Amino acid sequence: MRCLLSIILVTVHLGLFAQNVNKQNFPEKKNFNRVEMALPQVNGYTVLRCDFHTHTVFSDGLVWPTYRVGEAWIQGLDVLAITDHIEYRPFKEYVSGDLNTSYELALPMAREYGIMLIRGTEVTRKQGVIGHFNALFIQDANDIEQPDPEKALQAAYDQGAFIMYNHPAWALDTCLLTEFQQDIIDKGLVRGIEVFNNDEFYPRALSWSRDQKLTVFASSDVHATMTDVLEAHFPDGTGTMFRPMTLVFVKEKTQEGVREALDGRRTLAYFYGNVAGEEQWLKSLFLASVKLEKVSEKGKSASYKMTNLSGIQYKFTIGDAQYILDAGSSIHITLPVNKREVSMHVLNMHYYEGKHPVVSMVL
Ligand SMILES: [Zn+2]
Ligand SMILES: [Zn+2]
Repeated sequence: MRCLLSIILVTVHLGLFAQNVNKQNFPEKKNFNRVEMALPQVNGYTVLRCDFHTHTVFSDGLVWPTYRVGEAWIQGLDVLAITDHIEYRPFKEYVSGDLNTSYELALPMAREYGIMLIRGTEVTRKQGVIGHFNALFIQDANDIEQPDPEKALQAAYDQGAFIMYNHPAWALDTCLLTEFQQDIIDKGLVRGIEVFNNDEFYPRALSWSRDQKLTVFASSDVHATMTDVLEAHFPDGTGTMFRPMTLVFVKEKTQEGVREALDGRRTLAYFYGNVAGEEQWLKSLFLASVKLEKVSEKGKSASYKMTNLSGIQYKFTIGDAQYILDAGSSIHITLPVNKREVSMHVLNMHYYEGKHPVVSMVL
């Protein structure tokens, strides 16, 4: 009986391979696996993983719009905005179409894969004087092409756009707000700011976000492929491979839900193992991610298991002791048995220049 079964199995096995003697796939064909950064519900909100700043060949990017969608899917994004430059389109003579074309080409695939595609554009003026601004949730990018920068931003605003100030210190020595930039923030035209772009973190911009009540963003601003970018950061393939993302705390997973969260400043900037933004949201994310369970008591010390349910690694200190709690892992810690509360200084979270939150948990 066993012999017969073996013959059947061998026959089936050979049969599978025998079907295509003239065409074989090497290596064996695999499905693409999407990476998923696990994120818990935080204070009743769902946390969406978003990139609101990317480019295609319809400005100075090197890829076709549908490539951005496939890449976003593989890299675990829920929300994507393609924000081609209005004023800088070096391939214009090779790609016909207008300022809405990259969005329109990407939309069918985004719908098929369940990526929420936000219609956006980048208003691109002299860096260090006027600067670059992403307009999100626009209706028609062509209407925003206007010579006067403030009129261009006003046109986007009048379409209902949420406008953010991009990469405040890119190509500059430091992070400064020019008179023009401060003015349009004061007028309420610009309500968000990138604290991280591509490979640059701007701690000063993080302080402005708190002082001036701006919504924080971390963006890839990818022009080539995200694989190129991530391999440049991690040439040996180690470390976290998640792209920079804006984490958005939504009541509902719709365009209106995302917009409402941006208006409400319920975002955090995630970049290469760091999280930056409002202190209360950092603390809430940590507390939703990390669970503490008492295991035993012996003499004057108590043992705890600390578990990280999220896809973010946390680095923190308790007193003088340093800990690294990997994504999806547990560590064992001991604390004095009479302690009622434990406070963690979370070093890879940032809410102001040089400031990390202190998160307390009741024991
Ligand atoms: Zn830019
Ligand atoms: Zn850009």
